Amino acid sequence: MNRILLEQMLQKMRSFLKEGKNIGDLKVGALYALGNQLDAVYYFVGHELGSTMESGRETIDDTSVLIETLKKFSEKYHLGNMIIDEYNDEHITFDLEDCPTCKDIDVPSTEISQGFCSFEAGLFAGLVEKITGKHCFAQELECRLQKKSKNCKFMIVIPND
Ligand SMILES: [Zn+2]
Repeated sequence: MNRILLEQMLQKMRSFLKEGKNIGDLKVGALYALGNQLDAVYYFVGHELGSTMESGRETIDDTSVLIETLKKFSEKYHLGNMIIDEYNDEHITFDLEDCPTCKDIDVPSTEISQGFCSFEAGLFAGLVEKITGKHCFAQELECRLQKKSKNCKFMIVIPND
């Protein structure tokens, strides 16, 4: 548990409540500060959502076609702007500009040990799984809130079995 981060979230909540602002994202932040098992829960929920968002598509094998499909999808559902870093048959790494989970949260002044956006990781994994028909997984490599990069960075792994 990250006590300093939790305190920052609580402090923000107090001032947001005073100003009559929504504290939804801060509540999520506070839960993250309390423990990291939530990562898995958010990933799971994202995955469930991603794998049920679009149905009746033909299976896509070509990675560049897959990427174009994902970009259109992100636009349609406002999942952030995908900036492709690199890809091959087995993985795609990309930056997500305006990541829905953390875009409204200020970068904390204290260092956080892990990424914040496992929901998006699960969501993209679920989507790619649905589109390719392959069992996939995804990971947030760097989170904007960890100050390492301007955007959150993700990797989707598509095992060729
Ligand atoms: Zn993030």
